[in-house]
Amino acid sequence: MAEPHSRAIRGRLLTFLRAPNGANDPRSYRFFDDGVVLVKDGRIDAAGPAAELTARIAPGTAIDHHGGALIMPGFIDPHIHFPQTQVIASYGAQLLEWLEKYTFVEEQKFADPAHSARNAEFFLDELARNGTTTAVAYCTAHPVSAEAFFAAAHRRNAGMIAGISVMNRNAPSGLLAPGKTAIADSRDLINRWHGTGRQRYAVTPRFAITSTEEQLSALGALLKDFPGVLMQTHLDENLNEIAAIKRLFPDDPSYTAVYRRFGLLGPRSLLGHCIYLEDSEVALLLDTQSVAVFCPTANLFIGSGLFNYGRLKSAGVRIALATDVGGGTSYSMLRTAAEAYKVMQLQGQNFPALAAFDLMTRGNAAALGLEDEIGTVKPGAFADLVVLDACATPAMAHRMEVASTLEEELFVLMTLGDDRAVRQTYIAGRPAL
Ligand SMILES: [Zn+2]
Repeated sequence: MAEPHSRAIRGRLLTFLRAPNGANDPRSYRFFDDGVVLVKDGRIDAAGPAAELTARIAPGTAIDHHGGALIMPGFIDPHIHFPQTQVIASYGAQLLEWLEKYTFVEEQKFADPAHSARNAEFFLDELARNGTTTAVAYCTAHPVSAEAFFAAAHRRNAGMIAGISVMNRNAPSGLLAPGKTAIADSRDLINRWHGTGRQRYAVTPRFAITSTEEQLSALGALLKDFPGVLMQTHLDENLNEIAAIKRLFPDDPSYTAVYRRFGLLGPRSLLGHCIYLEDSEVALLLDTQSVAVFCPTANLFIGSGLFNYGRLKSAGVRIALATDVGGGTSYSMLRTAAEAYKVMQLQGQNFPALAAFDLMTRGNAAALGLEDEIGTVKPGAFADLVVLDACATPAMAHRMEVASTLEEELFVLMTLGDDRAVRQTYIAGRPAL
């Protein structure tokens, strides 16, 4: 007797698995030239070769045929700023000036619930258009911005992680919450949204420059009170930023040590950028199992520097890959992988396509501690999928005429692809486009 499924998704199917020797290990992925994913209650009920599974599809089940396109887990973007959709592509400034001149100005508008709600819808639409099914987002300092974001994501049944950017110094007064209010607001949002449907909370100090010691310490305590909650912040992005940290925290041995002192490092801590890490800081990240988040388009656009992937990887530090819109210049994880490849080339390192796609899906899920529910195509995981067409543009189709392997196709997708290559995005089994 066939089981009832809400949908069957058929096409060329690719997924990644944790392999002993990483992404270059042939055991690190599975590919079916004619595969199918069976969806039940928003989750994957079964996935594998169509020849084996079609018999299980109940009569009347909607079947989406994607022909030659590639079905894979939806992309995960572990560092992005939801209030910066109108900051992206702002000209000519480095980090601290860029924050003051553009970002802090735009972020103040999110005190208005209507503005927050409109931007949340735009942001989530744009993620879906780019095949991103989970993101870890910074909201503004205003609780209403997080409220709007979570409400919109919850309505879509999209698994999102977010938090209000907590600041109490070195930013405009409209974005500063006095210590206790921001902590109380964060706690209230955790109680309301962490674990509501697919939503999760991330305690979010913007960076150590914009919080006093008292506030950082309260955020560390908050993190301790809620063990499942994540933490996101920025670290070692820019030399002027690091100089400011040295002035503000003269007794701490390093920028990373500041976060450690306040209990902000750990396996659920995501640290954006990590460009200028001293050896002792690499050791701290390793020791605490914190995650270094590589944001190549932002690092190039803001002129911050080159993330040393090879160094951190060989040290054993956990690494994730993210867009960092609006310092980053594209919502597309494909474009982000292309820029990561170039940043690595400049340092004599390489980034094979299989490793890139593994990182954007399974690897980023593992960085969030969510490998069992997203970033993979396996029974029990959410049916969050992207369908990619490597022939989406004339230039891609032309290039694909001479591509003969899966790895080549993936490299064409990451080098030439963007939102135009996304044919469909499924969120919990439902088409989002
Ligand atoms: Zn950022």
